[in-house]
Amino acid sequence: MTKMRLAVLVAAAAGGFALAGAHARAQQPRSIAGGQPPRAAMITRAAEALGGVERIRSIRNITVAGYGELAYMNGGGNISASPDAPQKWISIPEYEKTVDVEHMRMRVRQRNHQNFVFAGLAGYLGAPNAAVAYLDGDVAFNAAQNNRMARANDQAVRARRIDMLNNPVVLVRAALEPSSRIGNVRTQGGLQLGDVTLATGESLTLAIDGASGVPAWVRWIAHDENLGDVTFRTSFTGYLPVKGVLLPMGYNTVIDFRNVVQNKLYVDKYGVDESIDDLSAPADVRAAAPPAPRAPAPEATLVTGGVWLLHGNGGANSVLFEFADHLTMFEAPSSQAWTRALIDRARSTVPGKPLTEVIVSHHHFDHTGGIRVAMAEGLTLIAHKGTEPLFREIAARRGTVAPDALGATPKPLKFRAVDDHLQLKDAAMQVELYHVVSSSHMAEALFAYVPGARLLVEGDFFDVGWELYWWQNMYADNIAYRHLQVDTDVPVHGRVLPLADVLKDIDRQTKAAADLCARTAASGVFTPGCPVKTPSPILQDAPSR
Ligand SMILES: [Zn+2]
Repeated sequence: MTKMRLAVLVAAAAGGFALAGAHARAQQPRSIAGGQPPRAAMITRAAEALGGVERIRSIRNITVAGYGELAYMNGGGNISASPDAPQKWISIPEYEKTVDVEHMRMRVRQRNHQNFVFAGLAGYLGAPNAAVAYLDGDVAFNAAQNNRMARANDQAVRARRIDMLNNPVVLVRAALEPSSRIGNVRTQGGLQLGDVTLATGESLTLAIDGASGVPAWVRWIAHDENLGDVTFRTSFTGYLPVKGVLLPMGYNTVIDFRNVVQNKLYVDKYGVDESIDDLSAPADVRAAAPPAPRAPAPEATLVTGGVWLLHGNGGANSVLFEFADHLTMFEAPSSQAWTRALIDRARSTVPGKPLTEVIVSHHHFDHTGGIRVAMAEGLTLIAHKGTEPLFREIAARRGTVAPDALGATPKPLKFRAVDDHLQLKDAAMQVELYHVVSSSHMAEALFAYVPGARLLVEGDFFDVGWELYWWQNMYADNIAYRHLQVDTDVPVHGRVLPLADVLKDIDRQTKAAADLCARTAASGVFTPGCPVKTPSPILQDAPSR
């Protein structure tokens, strides 16, 4: 977990409360029937149920204000990889979405903070200013903390278009446009379903109640770096009349990964056809090119003979181990594009030896963003045994709606499970893998120890960039528990540092967390993880050496 990851999450949440920064799918309708019925009939029926075709067509704008919750990392950031692990939530205490229906513009303003212990102050308590995201036609832009507007990328455009349509009145009004197509109308249970394709390319499935005609849910497919294609389904519930239309008081979005409730929106209030701000893109924002992703360029820095730190994306490092006849990488983080470049860098760093394995520190999705590339490359995953079912689930998921390594090249998963300890050793290299103990962050994790150079290679034990530390004595406990002689920390997050510096910094970060707890408690706010706990002793459980 880094501040960068948090920034991505906040930006993603701002870009689409319902979507977490995913790509929307553009696809052709499955059938385009000639004539009007039954395709238009279904939409007409929905419009009549919501207030009448003319009223829906005359709507100028809708504002929804409320609060909600967002599933952290789409369900990929929990204490264990089990589907039964308690879901970690990002709280959205303030949320406001304004849709200028007349001009198809949108603004989403929200605050969020983690409802679990976290390493960054702004992530834990919330940033001072709300995140503000806009869409004006094919221009997405954001208000920075200083209120300057900055253009966002094309992925944000697609995500925000879907987010704008994630409202029954806006969606039905868009579907009434002559340029929209309705295909594959069918019944399912007590519902009537139809696939709506808009002129801008978005395709969504709408379900209306067979008896009343009001929209029951909307469904679409988007891309996730870890999961490939993800189906989102937002249910609309508790319709109440507002200025001649019906609007739902609750939105609940579920994804087809373990039926995770991806987000919830509790509505406080709607505004319909009120006076709203001008949401058009400023001229300079419209004139600016959308930001293009930087080509990933990982660097390899020698740590000691046969061990390299692969770094350069500012968020997460990997580590390369050179064995006698093969290479092993520790971590495939961040994204598919980054890991693709990492694998190439590993191969060019030691030409002539095949890269055959990747060790996964733990199952959190920022640490496994490139796992689908590793799988598609046929690399063997080495990870804690508790994570095997999750990685098998990921390996079986399709990837069709955006560039996706595993979607392009499906491969059966090669998995080597580690229980308490695994030694990787040949004439050239010795790496000991151990199950992480004493961690309230990850219960099914591995770290690596290189006895030759006294290196401890870890993900999420410590990051020099963290502001707060909540993991108690994790670092020192793991060294003591395994009776290791560690001189140097080689981290996934941060930079290579002497152990003495790391322990000093953990002390400082832990004190910062204790101070924060004192501050919040003094103002009557009781936050997760507070007060900072005194660690339980671990040594009596340690295996004898
Ligand atoms: Zn983690």
